[in-house]
Amino acid sequence: MSKIINIAIDGPSGSGKSTLASAIAKHYGFIYIDTGALYRTVGLYIQRKGFASDDVENIVAALPHIDIDMRLEGGKGVVTLDGVPVSDEIRTPKSSMYASDVSKIPQVRAFLLDLQRDIAKRNSTVMDGRDIGTVILPDAQVKLFLVADDTVRAKRRYIELLEKGQSVTEEEVLADMRRRDKNDSGREIAPAVAAEDAILFDNSALSPEETFAKAKEIIDGVLA
Ligand code: C5P
Repeated sequence: MSKIINIAIDGPSGSGKSTLASAIAKHYGFIYIDTGALYRTVGLYIQRKGFASDDVENIVAALPHIDIDMRLEGGKGVVTLDGVPVSDEIRTPKSSMYASDVSKIPQVRAFLLDLQRDIAKRNSTVMDGRDIGTVILPDAQVKLFLVADDTVRAKRRYIELLEKGQSVTEEEVLADMRRRDKNDSGREIAPAVAAEDAILFDNSALSPEETFAKAKEIIDGVLA
């Protein structure tokens, strides 16, 4: 079996992690794992149960009942809930806030830890999230931490949501993003911060293609 390679891509929402991670996965033939989808799916389950996103007691009690998994399909991990792939339902602004809120709960993070590590142990992956380089895969061969100005990130996310047919304003997306940034980087457990050995990468002024070209240079250098 060839050597397992893991690439960690962390950063705030809208920093271009998923676009970059998918392009890298395709180029190197690795599996793309979107770990945000796992937190979003836990959030969706909680939302469906009718619990508030800050109802820690009920959320923690619900965890053993959540049948969440990841199926590897077409070069990426597809999150399933009760064996059924989750849809764009996890991408609404409400689901984003639920994901951000439930992800602050240590038991939720512990619940999703092995699922992420097991996939990376058995497959070469490009994993994107907030704590991949710091907590989930501290031994990843390559760690990138993507950043971009929040107005640039909000614009990207706004266009993405419009393309999905969702009706939101750019101001709403920016306000949501700022709240989520504060939540994600300020929390006590697994805050969204760069690992000491991560390469910080600001792509505010770069296109997805330019971002990929720069990342490829870094990865090729490390893997050579
Ligand atoms: O990456 P995405 O925006 O889909 O993630 C949704 C939310 O899930 C984030 O705002 C963050 O709170 C949480 N998350 C996390 N750790 C990860 C991935 C996502 O806490 N590794």
